[in-house]
Amino acid sequence: MVVLLLGAPGSGKGTIANYLEKEYGFFHLATGQLFRQITKQNSPLAQKIKKIINAGKLVNDALTNKLVKSNLIKKMKKNVVLDGYPRNIEQAKYLNKFCKIDYVFDLCVKENIIIKRIIGRRICPVCQAIYNIYYKKPQEKNHCNFDHHILIKRDDDTKQTIKQRLQEYKKFNHPLVAFYQQKGNYKKITLTGKKLINQIKKILKL
Ligand SMILES: [Zn+2]
Repeated sequence: MVVLLLGAPGSGKGTIANYLEKEYGFFHLATGQLFRQITKQNSPLAQKIKKIINAGKLVNDALTNKLVKSNLIKKMKKNVVLDGYPRNIEQAKYLNKFCKIDYVFDLCVKENIIIKRIIGRRICPVCQAIYNIYYKKPQEKNHCNFDHHILIKRDDDTKQTIKQRLQEYKKFNHPLVAFYQQKGNYKKITLTGKKLINQIKKILKL
């Protein structure tokens, strides 16, 4: 099955997708993560993407579509969870040509909570575990629970870039919601935390 997660940055898409990946072996395709991986390479593409991300902008559709398709097409036999893609109607139409979506979950969270979630987010650079200085503190201050590595904050997680990203998100999300509502596999979700995970498990019959 293919599960698609819609929701603003900080709405919990990554948490749900990581959960499905770890507990149920889903292939987790996150465009944000994919782009960050590419920026670590030494190539013109890496430089290009780094510049876009550091400016708080989004990678264009043509490039995003190409990178997603090449990563996704090999994994279609597995259960897949899409996180951060498609983010607009053009990408949704492109995806629709080669991939059938079984479930669309739209995670709706209030904006002030989203900002706090993103500002407080810390990540382990070794195992990618995600923490939050407000909501999910590590046992030892600023160190990973699993490997004790020092946690980092993403360069693009500042209040200014978050507000920019939220604006961009709103602009493109409405047509996307309409697109999937029409297809009949859309579900709006307003729960958070454990209740959110339980609801999704119930719908997916996991
Ligand atoms: Zn770690």
